[in-house]
Amino acid sequence: MIKRYPTKQIFVGNVPVGGDAKIPVQSMTFSKTHDVQGTLEQIKRLHFAGCDIVRVAVPDYEDAYALKAIKAESSLPIVADIHFNYRFALIAAEVVDCIRINPGNIGNKERVKEVVKACNERNIPIRIGVNSGSLEKQFDEKYGATTKAMVESALYNIKYLEDLGFTNMKVSLKASDVERTVEAYRMLRPLVEYPFHLGVTEAGTLFHSTIKSSIALGTLLLDGIGDTLRVSITGELEEEISVGRAILKDSGVQAEGLNIISCPTCGRLEANLVNAVAEVERRTKHIKAPLNISVMGCVVNAIGEAKHADVAIAFGKGQGLVMVKGEVVAKLKEEDLVDTFLKEVEKAAREYKA
Ligand code: SF4
Repeated sequence: MIKRYPTKQIFVGNVPVGGDAKIPVQSMTFSKTHDVQGTLEQIKRLHFAGCDIVRVAVPDYEDAYALKAIKAESSLPIVADIHFNYRFALIAAEVVDCIRINPGNIGNKERVKEVVKACNERNIPIRIGVNSGSLEKQFDEKYGATTKAMVESALYNIKYLEDLGFTNMKVSLKASDVERTVEAYRMLRPLVEYPFHLGVTEAGTLFHSTIKSSIALGTLLLDGIGDTLRVSITGELEEEISVGRAILKDSGVQAEGLNIISCPTCGRLEANLVNAVAEVERRTKHIKAPLNISVMGCVVNAIGEAKHADVAIAFGKGQGLVMVKGEVVAKLKEEDLVDTFLKEVEKAAREYKA
C-alpha cells in the first residue's frame, strides 16, 4: 500500500490538488496563445484525451489579453505560464485559475506583492516552477545546475511568497534527467507542506520521455510523493495524457482503466496475437473500470493468468478459450474469439463496482 505524503490542498479552478485528492494529469498547449481558436481547439483535444488542467504560455501582451476569451470557452482550468514580466501576471490573474511564475525572476518585491494581491483577490494559486535549465543566477553560480541549486531555488521562491503572507501554492522541480528530478523532489518533500507538480523537463520524444517519465515519476509516486503531474513529450498532445494516466495506473497509485496483460509470444504461438492485442487495446480505450484482462498466445501460461484476470483469452491452433474469473465461458474458432472476449470485457466493466 502506497502511503501518500500529506500536503496542503489547493484548488486549480474546480480541480483539487494535494491532500487526499486524485492526482490530476496536466498538459500544455503549443499554439500561440493569442491564437484563441487554435488554443481552444488544443484544449478541446486535451479534454477529450482525459486531461484535467491545461497550461498556456504567456510570453507577450497579446497572449495575456487573449486569456479572457480562452478562459470563457475552456472546458479545463487554465494555468498561465509567465516569466520575467509581472504585468502579464497581473493581467492573467484577473481571469485564469492559476499562474506559474518564479517570484524571484519577475522583478522587485513591490511587483511580486502586486501579483500576490491579485491572486489573493480571486483566491487563485501560484505554481512555483523551478527548472534546472533556468535557475536564478545566484544558485546557478553557487552550485551549478545541481539538485542542491534546484532545492535552494524552490525554498527561496517559497519564502518570497510566504514572507508576503501567501501560501496558496504548489511547487515543481524539473530537471531533464531522472536522477536529479527524483533527488530534488525527495530532498524538498520533508521541508515544505505544499503539493508537488511532478515532471521531467524537456524529456524528449514519445519513446524517450515515456521511459524517463515512467522511471522518475513512478519512483516518486511509489515514495508517496506527487500531487499532480505532466509528462512532457515532443509529440502529440494526447500522448502526454495517455502516458501520464498509464504511469498513475501502472504504478498502482490510481486505479483507472484496463490493465492489459499479454504474452511476448514464442515458438509455441499458432495465432496472430500481435494483431489481436492491438485490436483489444484500440477497442477498449474508453473503458474506465480498473479491470485486469489477459490475452495469451497458448494455454501454457494462459490458465494461470486467467485465474487473476477479470476476463482472459487463450489462443490455440485455429481456436481458443474465453475465460471470466478463471472459468471457461466459450470455446470458439480463432476469428470469433476477440469479439466474444470484448463483449465479456464490456459486461465486466458495466458490472464493476468500485
Ligand atoms: Fe509462448 Fe504461450 Fe507463453 Fe505466449 S503464453 S509466450 S505463446 S508459452
